[in-house]
Amino acid sequence: MSYAELSREELEALKAALEAEYAEHCAKGLALNMARGKPGADQLALSLPMLDCVNATTELFAEDGTDCRNYGVMDGIPEAKRLMASIMDHDAERVCVFGNSSLNIMYDLVSHGMLYGYLGAPAWKTLPEIAWICPSPGYDRHFAICEQLGIRMIPVRMTETGPDMDEVERIAASDASVKGIWCVPQYSNPTGAVYSDEVVRRLASMECAAEDFRIFWDNAYCVHHLYEGREAHVADIAAACEASGHPDRYFKFASTSKVTFPGAGIAAVAASAANIAEIKSRVGVQTVGYDKLNQLRHVKFLGDANGMAEHMKKHAAIIAPKFDMVLDMLEAGLEGVGATWSKPDGGYFISFEGLPGTAKRTVALAKEAGVTMTGAGATWPYKNDPRDTNIRIAPTLPPMNELEQAMEVFVCCVKLASVEALLAE
Ligand code: PMP
Repeated sequence: MSYAELSREELEALKAALEAEYAEHCAKGLALNMARGKPGADQLALSLPMLDCVNATTELFAEDGTDCRNYGVMDGIPEAKRLMASIMDHDAERVCVFGNSSLNIMYDLVSHGMLYGYLGAPAWKTLPEIAWICPSPGYDRHFAICEQLGIRMIPVRMTETGPDMDEVERIAASDASVKGIWCVPQYSNPTGAVYSDEVVRRLASMECAAEDFRIFWDNAYCVHHLYEGREAHVADIAAACEASGHPDRYFKFASTSKVTFPGAGIAAVAASAANIAEIKSRVGVQTVGYDKLNQLRHVKFLGDANGMAEHMKKHAAIIAPKFDMVLDMLEAGLEGVGATWSKPDGGYFISFEGLPGTAKRTVALAKEAGVTMTGAGATWPYKNDPRDTNIRIAPTLPPMNELEQAMEVFVCCVKLASVEALLAE
């Protein structure tokens, strides 16, 4: 049965049945939250032993003799650089390990462009307008940085292999006010897409009207695989940029927020030697140095790339069943509705595409029934989803039984909003 083929009478009858089911959900007094991509409590427990790796009885010196309790080494202790470099496909000398948040580093680097400019180019604040390419749906906090700093956002549609590159190339080549692009190249937030080699190559080699154009390569989910044997590994943007004669075009980012503890992990930026030198000179004014005890703690706990991969398998064992359950419930519950959704191999989200004009209504219905989802529209610049279709589903935080309840409500809300939209046509 396809909703689109139902008669008005059939739709009216379906609506009445769905309203009755919805009222039952509302009567349960649920308070469930699927709004943010947070690890569940059982995932956080995986990293509890890390808290014992650095304490009053353990070694508190880095391998180069740095006393991690004291000031010094603004750009990260060598072993932490090596650890982050190993998951960022970079050499450790051109990696800085900073504080607890990669988003914070991204914010700082966009701010540096605004205030000072990159590698001798004019500060953006001296220019009439700055614009940014925003593959959408995308990560709301990237868009919030642009919005706060007054950068005009240009949405470009995401495809299954990355942003629509014809559009990206056209925009980057034609407008010197376009200074950058947000990219979550592996298990993208929220679509789960992995950029193809072709997309990586085109981003690196495309003509840019702005000489100081930067690819913000936020590889937040570089080690966050869900299924053994289906691990993605996006092509290295640094190598691609170097090969096409644009060695300074990218900044890579990663963190251990969803490896160990969100808010208490370590975050890093990797870039060309020239960019790293400039970043260090600027960040060195912002801080005397970051939390080296936490860097040491992470190295002792995770070890190296292999240790990290083993640890990530434990996360996958907890969250893959949650993704599977959500996908099964969408599949079973939404037959014929005409909605679609992503089936990611990693990352933290399932991206849901409802019928045109139904996302806001669906999220509002769910909220009313006690299930908080990410706000509809949040995945687009200015919270403006032009077709009002996209909803980001974040399955990791609720325990399985709560997730199941929340998805029952969600499925009911999608159906009700869809029937309402069809009746309103
Ligand atoms: N980038 C992306 C794509 C994210 O989804 C998130 C949220 N986990 C972040 C960055 C934030 O990372 P951090 O905690 O390192 O600031």
